[in-house]
Amino acid sequence: MEEQAKTTGCVKPEGFTGRRVIQLLEKSGLEIREDEFVSLTARKLNGNPFALLVAIIISQNTTDKAAIKAYKRLNEMLGGRLTPEKIVELGQERIEEPLRPAGLSRQKARWIYEAARAIIDNGGERILTEKPPDELRQILLKIPGIGKKTVDVFMSQVRGEQVFAVDTHARRIAKRWCLEDTNNYDRISKAFSEFFKGEDLVKAHKLVIALGRKWCIARKPKCKECPLREICPYAVQHSSSTTKQEKNIGLSRK
Ligand code: SF4
Repeated sequence: MEEQAKTTGCVKPEGFTGRRVIQLLEKSGLEIREDEFVSLTARKLNGNPFALLVAIIISQNTTDKAAIKAYKRLNEMLGGRLTPEKIVELGQERIEEPLRPAGLSRQKARWIYEAARAIIDNGGERILTEKPPDELRQILLKIPGIGKKTVDVFMSQVRGEQVFAVDTHARRIAKRWCLEDTNNYDRISKAFSEFFKGEDLVKAHKLVIALGRKWCIARKPKCKECPLREICPYAVQHSSSTTKQEKNIGLSRK
């Protein structure tokens, strides 16, 4: 039996739907800027699927700003040819130095090198766009350093798969939105997919990340400035003007 998304003590205001959230965020002018997402930088600079995979690997456990810096340094070293063959030709040790700004450079150099080798061994870069999604997932998940999140981001951005990749922003927002209060990757991804059902999940994912960076920040969310403040479960529950009576009139328990 499928598990329901777990939330405790949460109330969801009426009108809090995935569609409304997207509408409000888009109307607010929340930008998904190319220079703030390493995968968009990779798309602009290189455009090939392996380059995007490399960008996603570099972005692990660091900020996009640091990841973009490291990505550009690596790309420069490779003369703009970020291919599996070029990575293998250079070798793991030589690609370590340009990755330093993103941290974990030794591990990331290894993961990128292993990814390049696995892709070559399985038929070359074309497998990233041509292999059936399930088979490609299996290949990628066997590469050290590549987990579900990396694969989901890659599959959604390169293959257009309707999956919701879960990062640190999504985890936090899932709790504030009463979608899922555990840290279980699959459950959070499923909860967002259900919440945004019928919407473009790739776009929804980018908007959630942009929201998490601009207003729904970790330490203290900027609810007063956030375009979702009237419908967001967290904002409504934490609003001092929200009386019990108002809750009974305007809110429904999940
Ligand atoms: S209203 Fe507050 S808690 Fe809700 S999404 Fe916006 S910043 Fe986050």
